[in-house]
Parts: sequence; C-alpha cells; structure tokens
Amino acid sequence: MYFLDLPRFSLGFLPTPLHKLKALSSYLSGPSIFIKRDDLTGLAFGGNKTRKLEFLIGNAVAQGCDTVITGGAIQSNHCRQTAAAAAAANLDCHLVIAGEDISHPTGNLLLDILLGAIIHWSGKFRKGELIPEVADSLKSTGRKPYLIPYGGSDRTGALGYVDAVGELVGQAELYNLNFSHVVFASSSGGTQAGVLAGKNLFRQNFDVIGVQIDKEPVEGLPLEDKINEIFSGLADMPGASKRWEPGNIILVKSYCNEGYGVVGKAEKEAIQLLATLEGIFLDPVYTARAMAALIDKIRKKEFDKDDTILFWHTGGTPSLFAYSEELSGIQNLTMIP
Ligand SMILES: *Cc1c(COP(=O)(O)O)cnc(C)c1O
Repeated sequence: MYFLDLPRFSLGFLPTPLHKLKALSSYLSGPSIFIKRDDLTGLAFGGNKTRKLEFLIGNAVAQGCDTVITGGAIQSNHCRQTAAAAAAANLDCHLVIAGEDISHPTGNLLLDILLGAIIHWSGKFRKGELIPEVADSLKSTGRKPYLIPYGGSDRTGALGYVDAVGELVGQAELYNLNFSHVVFASSSGGTQAGVLAGKNLFRQNFDVIGVQIDKEPVEGLPLEDKINEIFSGLADMPGASKRWEPGNIILVKSYCNEGYGVVGKAEKEAIQLLATLEGIFLDPVYTARAMAALIDKIRKKEFDKDDTILFWHTGGTPSLFAYSEELSGIQNLTMIP
C-alpha cells in the first residue's frame, strides 16, 4: 500500500470544492475551465501547504519532535500555514524569514505573529537557507526540532498532492468530467512532483502544466531538476512503482521574468477578472500569475475548444493585503469586453 499507512496529522477540510468557472469560460470563449479550491483547505485561510503539512507534521509528531522550523519570504504562505499547523499540533514554530523586523506587519507576516511563531530575520535569504543554523542553536538548548524545507517541498510534503490527485479523480468521476490539462502555480516543486506521482498512481492522462513563478533555483537546483528529484523520491517509496515516469515535465517559464512577487499588468488583470466575474480572489504572487498565463494561452488559442481545463487554486490570498499599494491602481484597468 502506498502512503495511506504513513503518519498523517489531520489539518485540512477535505475534499476541497471543485466547480466550473462559467463566466470566465464564456468570457474567454475558449475551453471549459474548472477550479479546484485549495484556497479553501480550511487551515488559517487555506492554501496548498495544508496538504503537505498533514504528512510533514504527521512525521514530526511520530518522531517525537517538539518544534518545527521552516522559512521563506516575508509574505510566505507556507510559513503562515506551518505556524498554524504547529499551533494545532501543539508544537513550537520557528520561522526563518527574509528581510528585517518591520514595525507594521501585515498579510501573512501578521498572521505568523498571531499564530505564535518565533521569527528569525534572515536578511537577503528568502528560501530558508538559514534553517540548519537555527536548528543547531535549538538543539544546543535541548530542543528536538523537525526541519521542514522551503515550500514544504520534499517527498513527505509532496505526498499531500499525490493524495490530492486521488481526491480530484473521485470528484471528476462523480461529475463525469475528463480533464485534459491541470494547470497551477509551481515554485518549489512539491506540488508538481506530487501531482505527477498521483497521475501515475491513479493512471490519469491529463497534461500537468506548472506555471513557473520564480526563476531563481530551489536549493541550488533548477525547478525541473527539483521536481525530478522529489518525483524520484516518491517513486522509490514502498507501494509505488519503479515504472512510474514523470514524463516530459511541462513548466511554462515565460511569465516569471519580472521576478518573484512583482505584480504586473497581467497579474492585476487576472485578479480583477476572477474577482469581478466569479467573486473569487487570486493571490498576487502565485495564482494571479498562473491564471494570467492560462488566460494568455487561451487567447493565443493554445487549447482546443473542447478541452476541459482544471485550474488548481493553490491559495495565498492573505498576501493581497500586503500588496495594497501595487493593487490600488487596479480600478484604472480597462476591461476588454
Ligand atoms: C507555495 C505556493 C505555490 C507553489 O507550490 P510549490 O509546491 O512550492 O511549487 C503555489 N501557490 C501558492 C499560493 C503557494 O503558497
């Protein structure tokens, strides 16, 4: 048996809803677009890290750890969900966060503080590079820390998305849907590796399209290599099969050139369209960029009209509040009818 007998700590309200984006689909007059609402996983404003953390926190508890450590950018959704998961599991949480102390925390950082996380400022390091250092100092004071990598992206965390594919397949069968493409924001590789392994486990045919959000490498590796590394780890586990293939890893790279966390015109349009047509919030860093890429590809007729596309909403909405300056000009955007 694969993963079902591994330690898991229940955190999410699962399954998350799956529904059609009717107004957006007809506005674009292209393929049918459905959305899987992992912005509604339920843990502290939700997001894709909740699924990863069920397995990561499960491991931490099984190993008798008393503390978790992770890290990320100042508006890290992963840090916020880890802080919430640690609170729910009665573990201490240390976060290694880029930048330096600020007087008016907002968005995810405010939530980290409310959740009781202890913050270590790491200056220019925004991908948890100093996690081992913090772990060493905690160990020297007798603590037993569990290290969660940047983005929760190792094979343990990625199991959350292996399981999520099973959830998606169950819903698709119920509603008689046959997805041709699954599209989502890809950044530290755990989600994409997990979806690819789930595609093998549940014998699915859809194309897995990761929209790359951040052009900088992850732990020294280009994103494809990181995805491959995590995928191999998943394929090596008991109950998996050596015959599993990640296939040709599809990463759409052309939308991240402005850099991580830079909100451009395309991201703003995606936020505005989803809000005004569907009443759904995208986040400025990840899901807005991924949706902007999908919209652009539909406009460029890169999909067939009878394709059925799943957009996987991976969360992140609390960071909207930290981008109020960038987003305040949004009313000036003209909608193209
Ligand atoms: C972390 C994150 C992602 C990227 O997931 P990875 O597994 O790191 O590739 C996408 N969207 C949001 C909102 C995230 O917080």
